[in-house]
Amino acid sequence: MLEASALNKWFGRFHALRDVNLAVPEGARIVICGPSGSGKSTLVRCINGLESFQGGTLRICGDQLTRDRRRLQAVRRQVGMVFQQFNLFPHLTVLANCTLALRRVLGRTGAEATEIARHYLDRVGIAQQAQKYPHQLSGGQQQRVAIARALCMKPKVMLFDEPTSSLDPEMVKEVLDVMTELADAGMTMLCVTHEMGFARAAADLVVFMDQGSIVEVAPPDTFFASPTQERTRAFLDKMI
Ligand code: ADP
Ligand code: MG
Repeated sequence: MLEASALNKWFGRFHALRDVNLAVPEGARIVICGPSGSGKSTLVRCINGLESFQGGTLRICGDQLTRDRRRLQAVRRQVGMVFQQFNLFPHLTVLANCTLALRRVLGRTGAEATEIARHYLDRVGIAQQAQKYPHQLSGGQQQRVAIARALCMKPKVMLFDEPTSSLDPEMVKEVLDVMTELADAGMTMLCVTHEMGFARAAADLVVFMDQGSIVEVAPPDTFFASPTQERTRAFLDKMI
C-alpha cells in the first residue's frame, strides 16, 4: 500500500530523514513514536507530498511519488491526513468543511457531497453539529470533524500526526475511539502518536524514530516488553 525506500531528506545542511525504509501493507496499523525533532512529522509530510525529499523513493498504491504536480495530486488523493492543529477552515461550517474537496476536487454535486459528508460526520458521532462553525466546537469535536473530512475523500491510507497532542486530556479518548474504530474497520493507518495505550490496543507495528532514522520496528507486545535498542529503552523509560 505504501513503501518508503532509502528515503533521505535534508533541510539545507540538516539531514532530517536518514535512509528511512518502511513498508505499510494494506490494512496495517502502524504507530510511529520518538522524541521531538526525530523526523516523524517530516516523514508523514513526505508521504503526503507536503515536503519534497532528495533521495530514495516513495510508492503509494504502486504509484511512485514524483515532482510532477498532476501525478502528485492523484497520489495525494489516496492519502488522508489529520494534523495536530485540526486545520479546519474557520469560515466554513462543519458540513462545508467536509463537502468542499468533494465538490472542488472530485466534482461531486452539492447533493452528493452533502450525503457523503453526512455519512462520515455521523460515523464520527458529530452529525448534530453539521451547521456549526469550528470555533463553536470543542477541540475533540473539531478533530473528529477533521477525521470525517479526510474520510470523505475515501483515502486508501490515513496519516495522523499527533492528532491528540493539542487536546485537553478529557477529549483525547473520543478521538482515539474514532481512530480505533477506523483501525477495526480495516483502514490502513500510519499514526504518529505518543498514546501508548492506543499503540498497544490498535497497532500491529510500532516504529521508533530518533535523529531522522528508524531505530526499531516491532509488534507492540515486543516493543514495550523487550525493546532491543538502548535508545528505545531510554525513550520508553521517560514516557512512563
Ligand atoms: P518531529 O515531528 O519528530 O518532532 P520534525 O519532523 O518536525 O520532528 O522535525 C525534524 C527535524 O527537522 C527537527 O530538527 C526540525 O527542527 C527540522 N525541521 C522540520 N521542518 C523544518 C523546516 N521546514 N526547515 C528546517 N528544519 C526543519
Ligand atoms: Mg511532529
